[in-house]
Amino acid sequence: MRTVAPAEPRPLRAPARVAALAALALLPMACGRGSPAPPAPEPVRYAADGRPEGTVGTLARWNVMWVCLDTVRADALLPWATGAPKMPLTSELLGREAVAFADATSPAPWTGPAVASMLTGLLPSEHGGRELSDAFRVVPAVPTVFEVLGAQGWRSGAFTGGGWVSTENGVLQGIEPDEAHAPFSFAGAATMLLRSQRLTRAVRPRLLFLHTFEAHDPYLGPPASPGTAPPPGPTFDLAAIDREAEQDGGRALARRFLLDAGSRAVVFGGVHGRRRLATVTRWFERGVRSDPAAPALVAEAKAAYEAGLARLDRALAAWLSACLTEGLLDDAVLVVTADHGEGFGEHGTMHHGRRLYDELLRVPLFVRAPGWPRGKVVRGSCSLLDVLPTLVDLVGLPPMADVAGRSLAPLVRGGPGRPVVAEERRTEAETGLPGDETLVSVRDERRKWIRTVDHRSGAATEEAFDLDADPREERPLPASTVDGWPAAFRDAVREARARGR
Ligand SMILES: [Zn+2]
Repeated sequence: MRTVAPAEPRPLRAPARVAALAALALLPMACGRGSPAPPAPEPVRYAADGRPEGTVGTLARWNVMWVCLDTVRADALLPWATGAPKMPLTSELLGREAVAFADATSPAPWTGPAVASMLTGLLPSEHGGRELSDAFRVVPAVPTVFEVLGAQGWRSGAFTGGGWVSTENGVLQGIEPDEAHAPFSFAGAATMLLRSQRLTRAVRPRLLFLHTFEAHDPYLGPPASPGTAPPPGPTFDLAAIDREAEQDGGRALARRFLLDAGSRAVVFGGVHGRRRLATVTRWFERGVRSDPAAPALVAEAKAAYEAGLARLDRALAAWLSACLTEGLLDDAVLVVTADHGEGFGEHGTMHHGRRLYDELLRVPLFVRAPGWPRGKVVRGSCSLLDVLPTLVDLVGLPPMADVAGRSLAPLVRGGPGRPVVAEERRTEAETGLPGDETLVSVRDERRKWIRTVDHRSGAATEEAFDLDADPREERPLPASTVDGWPAAFRDAVREARARGR
């Protein structure tokens, strides 16, 4: 694990943008058409320790509270839900308090690459953490938000569910030693409030990252109790479980994986557990389409997932309300989002990962920031990659060069969205099925394009979707449809094809 040295005292100078404005004010009004627009600040490179090449001026030293709700679909909340939201309390609270980015998507469909992308502003193929394997690792030279803000004096802390969100694999690279706490649960709202108070009030500015698996499978599993070890699991007849999997193609095993928190560690741990996990993945990929009993399991799983959302909603809304009441969000930036969604039979599959359709890529994204409007819904395609550049912009650091993300501030002021990219690798190690594929998608508010390259045969397939007419992405259009789409979209598609990754 790399650590960041305590920030050195830095000379405070006027921020570059303020200096530029001051210089402009001294210019004669030569043309008589009013003040020219100030030049945009030049993007600069950030080193691996988070320090920018450019001059850093006076910063807005706000606390940052960044909440990631693993596996929470966008349509669990307003304004993304088409009917009643499954998380009404959080919808109401953040709908009133924050800006909601209605067209936000994730750059990856599962936890490791998505969270790493969020925290670095880079696509999975750029930060390196992309394949579901023991070798998953974010490139150490890539600065994370903990390093970028840490270099300027922000003290970091994290409460996470562990797993892929770890210091060992680089996702939490740069977080301060002893400040990555796992596991935790919003269900312990009172405890969480005390811990949040301790961290945010003891030192300013504080960057606190909270990542919870409470909506993740196994659905409605017991929320982790801070400071307590899980009870020992019961014993199972594993031979009988394996015989059943041979007979039903893995459906009962998939049910156990999704719904039975008590047997999970025993059945899916170790070498044999990996084999069983591959059986489950194959059933998600093939069985959901072909097994006559699949619709019943999909419905049962969805009901449990939604019950979990309701539980998370109550706990999260209680914690957020308490944070507001206690002043923890005064002079602070609050981000609430999810890393990806979850599938329940859409496109003949379940669970997450392995595909780039919207049931996985669309995510909720709320930002509450000093000086930003409250209760506003902002349209325009954007990405989770944009959160880090937004924080950099909000506190007054120079814009980051060489990152795929960009600040969301222009979007809040009414600017346009842009086509955004998502990526996925689909290998035999993950699916248990032959294949070595790379998927890439380009999406804006109205259109979607997905390319799948099979690296063994060299074959590529492409799908295009008109999201206005076909929001569920069920009727792919000919790939040539893209030729008639806007130039910015065509350029993004051309670049994605050229990269071939
Ligand atoms: Zn996740």
